[in-house]
Amino acid sequence: MVSFLAAIPLNRIAFGAGLAFALASGAAVRADPAPPVAISAHVQITGRDTRLSFILQSCVPSEPYLLQNPSRAIVDLPEVNFQIDPAEGLSSAARRDKRQEHASAETPSLIASYRFGRLAPGKSRIVVDLTGPAAIVSSTCAAIPGAAELTLVLTPSSEAAFKAAARAGAARQAQAEPAPPPPPAPASEKPVVVIDPGHGGVDTGALGRNHAIEKNVTLAFAKTLADKLRASDRYRVVLTRDDDVFVPLGERVRIARRLNAALFVSVHADALASNSAEVTGATVYTVSDRASDAEAARIAEHENMADSAAGEEAKENANDVNDILFDLTRRETRAFSHVFARSLTEYFKVAGRLNKNPRRSAGFVVLKAPDVPSVLLELGYLSNAADVADLDSADWRDKETSQVAKAIEAFFAQQKPETQPAAAANAALKATQTGGN
Ligand SMILES: [Zn+2]
Repeated sequence: MVSFLAAIPLNRIAFGAGLAFALASGAAVRADPAPPVAISAHVQITGRDTRLSFILQSCVPSEPYLLQNPSRAIVDLPEVNFQIDPAEGLSSAARRDKRQEHASAETPSLIASYRFGRLAPGKSRIVVDLTGPAAIVSSTCAAIPGAAELTLVLTPSSEAAFKAAARAGAARQAQAEPAPPPPPAPASEKPVVVIDPGHGGVDTGALGRNHAIEKNVTLAFAKTLADKLRASDRYRVVLTRDDDVFVPLGERVRIARRLNAALFVSVHADALASNSAEVTGATVYTVSDRASDAEAARIAEHENMADSAAGEEAKENANDVNDILFDLTRRETRAFSHVFARSLTEYFKVAGRLNKNPRRSAGFVVLKAPDVPSVLLELGYLSNAADVADLDSADWRDKETSQVAKAIEAFFAQQKPETQPAAAANAALKATQTGGN
């Protein structure tokens, strides 16, 4: 086995430089050491078992458990710096160690695919999509020459045993993650604009051409847009995340509601199967009970799976309030969302391509705040070469965020004070909702 440093590919030069710095300054004791780096992952079949191993800089403790709907194995870890292409975990059954291919041709892998990444500050997670009912044999970390190896071992189990274990897993996750206390919403003189970079951390979002990763594309765009809006000094601008961390869909909505946001813009990028590589351009979505078309329904279903992709147990939707006041507020909010969506497409097309059907609607969870006008901007398709070239370009990002900032400016300029989303109705609505959100 080669040493850990020698095993680092040349393209990890940034990490190499960082480590060199850490070694050079190693005399000082660091109170908060950098998280260990993981450099590779592989799947092996041994007998009936499927093993998923990560090569790490040093050992970390792990907490494995199972979840159902869909069937997943979760491994919770302290923070790990995964320097591994997320595409490694796609259809991992096909990618399993070539040396094992012959010996285990008859044994199907229990792993359909897997993801890894940051969950929250100080926490990381591995999410394994299972091909069938499985039991966790072990999750152990052992020193190997020059590095460490973390291995999850899965074995086939009965459906009943899996379900029982998955219920225990859900209970364990619920216990480990107490709801964060809502931070107080400081009053703001300026309208609050919440920009929501889609996905993050262990939830990578779509993976596209040229190693494009949706969570990075959305964060780069959102940060540039936030900088432009802040420079105008007209708004209080809040990002739902400003680094590579997982934020549940419901929490994104709660952030906007807690701050009494006047506008919520969720930023995403889609990817289609390779036979649809010609599909291109941006689409602006609003929320609706019924999807405008099959493609909108597909996108919403996919985007709504973000929590599940990050290894979160499916939670029941918060109970919607069904009264007339709620309905009125929601209808008014949706009208504002439509006005902004229409204007956003007009501004967007000045500097970029629109999809041939650029205004659509569907049941996006992240757009469901009843009192915050909300749109979801799919910037383009990571499966399209021209779109990826744009999304990778700082010049395009600069021009297009200027257009989105202009659309936001126009949205607020249109609103005379007396026609702003009925503040009184909103206050009354909030008064009817005890606790909950
Ligand atoms: Zn997305």
